[in-house]
This record gives sequence, structure tokens and C-alpha cells, in this order.
Amino acid sequence: MNKDRYLVVVSGPSGCGKDTVVRRLRALHPEIELSVSATSRPMRAGEAEGVDYYYMSREEFRQKIQAGEILEHAEYSGNLYGTPKSEVDKRIGQGRTVVLVIEVEGAGNIRKLYPEATTVFLMPPSMEQLEARLRGRGTEDEASIQRRLARAREEMEYAPLYTTTLVNDEVESCADRLYEIIRQRQQA
Ligand code: ADP
Ligand code: 5GP
Repeated sequence: MNKDRYLVVVSGPSGCGKDTVVRRLRALHPEIELSVSATSRPMRAGEAEGVDYYYMSREEFRQKIQAGEILEHAEYSGNLYGTPKSEVDKRIGQGRTVVLVIEVEGAGNIRKLYPEATTVFLMPPSMEQLEARLRGRGTEDEASIQRRLARAREEMEYAPLYTTTLVNDEVESCADRLYEIIRQRQQA
């Protein structure tokens, strides 16, 4: 089996529930690992260094890119986000499943590097639900909400490029469906 398949990319518009579904997936299947990204965005309340992200200045981020330590990166909503190489290669080489929760441009770069990666696009049930979830999370100011909703429409056009699209109507069932996709791809 191609090792790329141990790499699982999850994308979807901000607020659709990517982190929530992946948290549930990992609670049910603790052997599934999460790639922790680097970001230049400020830490949100409730987040922690090395758990949600590795937080750094744009300058530090640039240095890491130049040092070749970042596998892929993208600018999103005014901040840099990227996958450290150290989060991925060794683990998939050992046959461990690693989930990357990243936006659509980064997913495109991962697809070039790992053509057989399992890629899943998470859809909100509707734009109204997406806005309600983004507001309900209470982490963004109005300008950030508007930027993220505007970007959501563009992001959803990338869905056909993914191995599978899943609608996050209900967390539990969505996590179950995601697990099934990962399992089937790894058995194929
Ligand atoms: P993302 O990681 O895609 O930005 P989050 O996982 O932070 O999104 O979810 C955004 C908000 O929506 C959170 O407050 C979360 O509790 C809520 N949420 C996630 N999935 C669902 C769902 N299936 N039904 C209702 N609310 C959800
Ligand atoms: P947030 O600020 O809501 O945590 O994340 C904003 C967006 O950046 C989300 O779509 C998230 O998936 C994406 N993202 C997080 N980490 C990475 C990464 O390492 N690379 C890329 N390309 N996108 C990322």
C-alpha cells in the first residue's frame, strides 16, 4: 500500500466544524495522529502552544520556510499557516495515520507532494449554518467573520478536487463517516 494514504487532509470553510469533527475522530480512534501547524496568527482563548498550533511571528515563520522546515504553507485571512515537515514524513513512513487540517491551497500542494493522500472536504449543511457556527464559536470579530464567509464561497469550489466530500450535519456521524473513508482507503 502506498504510504501517501496514511496522510489525511481535511479542508473546509472556517467554522464548518473541521476541528470539532477531527477531535471526535481522535477521541474514538486514538491511534490517529494530528499534525500541529505553525501559524503567525495570535493564540485564541482556550488554545495552547504545541497543541493547537506552534505560534510564531511572521519573521520566525519566514526563517523556517527558508530553512526548508515547512512542507507547505499559505496565507489565510491575513496570517501565515504551514505544516512543519517534522509533523509528517517520519510518522507516515512508520505507517501511522496523520491528519492535516489545512486550507485549500495547502491541500493542493500536499496533493502534488503526496498524490495518493486521502483528501476530505468538509461542507457545512448550508451557508446559514456556517455563519451561525462561526458566530456561535465567538472567536472572531465582525471583520474576520466577514472575511471568512467571503472566502468560504471560493473554498467550496475546490471540493471536487478532493477524494471525498462530507457534509458535517452531525458531529458524531460525520466523524464515523470520516473514519470509514480513512479505513477503506488504507485497505484498498
Ligand atoms: P473549523 O475548525 O472548521 O473552523 P470548529 O470545529 O471550530 O470549525 O467549529 C465551529 C463551531 O461550530 C464550533 O463552535 C463547534 O462547536 C460548532 N460545530 C461543529 N460541528 C457542528 C455540528 N455538526 N453541529 C453543530 N455545531 C457544530
Ligand atoms: P484558524 O485560524 O481558523 O485556526 O485556521 C484558518 C485556516 O487555516 C483553516 O482553514 C485551517 O484549516 C487552515 N490551516 C491551519 N493550519 C494550516 C497549515 O498548516 N497549512 C495550511 N495551508 N492551512 C492551514
